[in-house]
Formats: sequence, structure tokens, C-alpha cells
Amino acid sequence: MSVRVRIAPSPTGNLHIGTARTAVFNWLFARHQGGTFVLRIEDTDLERSRPEYTQNILAGLAWLGLNWDEGPSFQTDRMDLYRQKVQDLLDRGLAYRAYDTPEELEAMREAQKANNQAPRYDNRHRNLTPAQEAAFMAEGRQPVIRFKIEDDREISWHDLVRGTVTWKGRDLGGDMVIARAASADEIGQPLYNFVVVVDDIDMQISHVIRGEDHIGNTPKQILLYEALGAAVPQFGHTPLILNQAGAKLSKRDGVTSISDFQQMGYTPEAITNYMTLLGWSPPEGMGEIFSLPEAAQQFSFDRVNKAGAKFDWDKLNWINSQYLHQMPIDQLTDRLIPYWQAAGYELDPVGDRGWLAAVAELIGPSLARLDEAVPMTRYLFVPDVGFTAAATTQLQMDKVATALAGIATALAAESNLTAENVQTVIQAGVQAAGVKKGVVMKSLRAALTGDLQGPDLVQSWLLLNQHQLDRPRLQQAIALGVSSL
Ligand code: GLU
Repeated sequence: MSVRVRIAPSPTGNLHIGTARTAVFNWLFARHQGGTFVLRIEDTDLERSRPEYTQNILAGLAWLGLNWDEGPSFQTDRMDLYRQKVQDLLDRGLAYRAYDTPEELEAMREAQKANNQAPRYDNRHRNLTPAQEAAFMAEGRQPVIRFKIEDDREISWHDLVRGTVTWKGRDLGGDMVIARAASADEIGQPLYNFVVVVDDIDMQISHVIRGEDHIGNTPKQILLYEALGAAVPQFGHTPLILNQAGAKLSKRDGVTSISDFQQMGYTPEAITNYMTLLGWSPPEGMGEIFSLPEAAQQFSFDRVNKAGAKFDWDKLNWINSQYLHQMPIDQLTDRLIPYWQAAGYELDPVGDRGWLAAVAELIGPSLARLDEAVPMTRYLFVPDVGFTAAATTQLQMDKVATALAGIATALAAESNLTAENVQTVIQAGVQAAGVKKGVVMKSLRAALTGDLQGPDLVQSWLLLNQHQLDRPRLQQAIALGVSSL
């Protein structure tokens, strides 16, 4: 049987890191097995689903490199099929209409609570006579459709991650609602556990790989496979991503959607690498930095951990820096340009290409995240960079203005500044003021970059010179020094 797996996100929010990680494991397994990776959008929750979330999910999966082979298909396009299957269960006596009112259900739960029993539906409408049904309908009650779950059933499966898992029918909450019913002969909205099974059968999914939070749905779904006369797929429930407190990572923990990570300057390669490590132990000798295709070659479920994995920002930052530091300059430049543009820096991506690549080369080794390039290179883009308090103090020190004036004069004598003549120009400053070279370099940095620390000074100066930003800054710095005398 060929391997077919799927990712089935609900478009009720942006692509969540947990969904993306499930997608990673499905992708790795599909690629390892030469199988098919299917994308299905579970948009049956009409109130919470939004097309912009679908767009965000598709764009996020594509950005991460998790390409799918089939889909996206949408559950809202498939309602006829679900209704037909519900009808089939009704016809075969495996499902029935239940007419309980919300108040009755609430009273049932209260009574169970009072008796220290777990809440469940007590199957009281399983065997209504046609006359009873007619009476309930006449009262205007809105039925739901429930699927029969026998208390004495035992449901077992061999989970790819967790080994043998067994549930008792009586722990599944009684006969389960699979659809709302609009009236005595209509079928309304079919519900999650049911449509997932109908789709997974129809799409011939061989392995259902999803987060551990779905494990309680699996026994119910297995009963539905049996009722629908279909082979039960293999299941694998992957460990959850936890926050530092050990609870499931949620929106309250701040950044959780892939587009946020993108905005923060993480590369897709680092994110998928880190998400793979959050739950999978690579074989000995593989190291911790690997691409998705490399991981796919080695991927197997016996190396997926059972325990949840804590999300660790330091680790992600370290992995991201590894990718940024080894990235070819051309690629790094391509990735930095959108961040500079979003920051409002004026640049011409084509005309300035060589200059931008030199900027990328200058700062690449210090980056842990792409967005750090924005503050780090501000002095190279913004004409009026300003001076920090520390830089101002430096520029107002004794003899600094004289040294900078010496540099400005020597610079004026050169048609352009080069790696060769730059040291002669600096030396002119040393001589003009009779101070140590260290003082001149510190002052020059203050003058040219507005601050006392930053990337390599000589390289920075050459880049500023190419954009004619250095001479005005030197003049401004000299004026600041002179004014304090
Ligand atoms: N739509 C479900 C979710 O987003 C996934 C269902 C499944 O994988 O079976 O959590």
C-alpha cells in the first residue's frame, strides 16, 4: 500500500507552530517513504474560519519548504459527501436522532457531577419510537445525530510513537454527535470527528500523523472507520511543543504563528530544522544542523520522542545564526532586502546590488536573526544618523576635532577612498592632532556611525564613502567638537 499522509489545518488562525511541526513530520515521513503529502483545509467551522487564514497557512507552508503533492481541498466543498455518509449510518441503524434540549443535557451533567461521575451522554434517545420522535419534533426541538458507541467495546491501536494504546468504549462520553440535524429528514452541519474520517477514507490516507492533543479523538474515529466499512489507517501522535512552564505552547506565550517568526528574522531552514529537533532525535553522527531533505533520508518514528518538548529560544537563535553565517552572500542579500525595505530605508535593489551585498557581507557574521540587520546597518542607510550621547562626548574631547579636520583635508585630496589609501588618510588625522591612533579610530567611528560600537570601521567607511555619506558626517562631527571648545 502506498504511503499517503496529510496535514489538515483549520483556518481559524494563522499557521501555528504546532501545526507546522505536524506538517514537518508528515512531510519527512512522506518523503522518506516516497509517499504523497496531501493538504486539506478543514473549514467546516463557518463562524471562525477565514479566507485570510487559509492564505496565511498556504503561504507559511510554502515558505517553510513543506511542499504538498495534492490539494488544497476544502471541506466546505464536500458537504454532500458527508451528508450522504451520515445518512448511510442512519439507514443502517448505527446512528440516530437525539432530541435532548441544552437544558436537559446540562441537568444530566449536573447530576453526574453530583454523583462524582465523568460527564457523558447517557444514550437516552437511542431507541425512540416513531411516535416519541414525532412528539419531540412537534415540540419544536432541534435534534442532533449521534453515532452509537458501545460501552463494552475496547479499542486498541499500535501508535507509531506511543506503542499500543487502548481505550474503553465507556470512556468515550457516550454516543457521539456526528452532525447537527436541521429537521426530522434533513442533515445539518456534520462535525469534526466525522468529516475527518470520511475525508481520510476518501483520500486513502494510510498514516494519520498528528499532535498528541488529538489522541482522545482516535478511538472514536476508529469506530467510525469500522462503521463505514473502511480499513483503519496507522496512527502516530507526536509530542506537543511546550512552553517553559511545561504547558502546551499557546497564543498566551506570545509568538506562535509562523508569520511572526518570519517577521522576526528567522529563516525557514532554521525553523524547520529546529522543529524537527523538537521531538525527533537524529541518528548518531548526523549533528544538529540539517536540511529537510537530509532529515527525510534518516527519518523514522522510532526516533520520535514520547515526551513533550520545551520550546527554547536560545536554541532556535543558535540554529538560525548557523544558517545565516554559512549562507552565500547573494542569498543573504536577497533575504535582507525586504527587512531594510520594511524599515523604510531607501535603496535600489538592482542599482545598489553590489553595495547591498557588501553590507550583507560586513554584518553577516554577527547576525543571529535577519531583523537585527535593521538597527545594525541604520548608519549606512539613513543620511542624518545623529550622534549618541557617548559619541557626542567622544567628539567633544580635546584634539578630536583637529584630528577629524586632518582626516577631512586628506580625504578631500583623494578622488575616492579605497582599501589602499584609507590608512594614509587616517594617518593624516593622527599627525594633525598628535594623538594616538586608537583615539583617532574611536573618534572616526563616532563621527561616521554616530556611535562607539558597530561593524568593522574601515569597511563601514568605504561603504559610506561610496554613497557620499562620509564627508557631511565628518563636517558635522568637527562642528560639534569645535562648538564645545
Ligand atoms: N483540523 C485539525 C486541527 O487543525 C487536525 C485534524 C487531524 O489532523 O486529524 O487540529
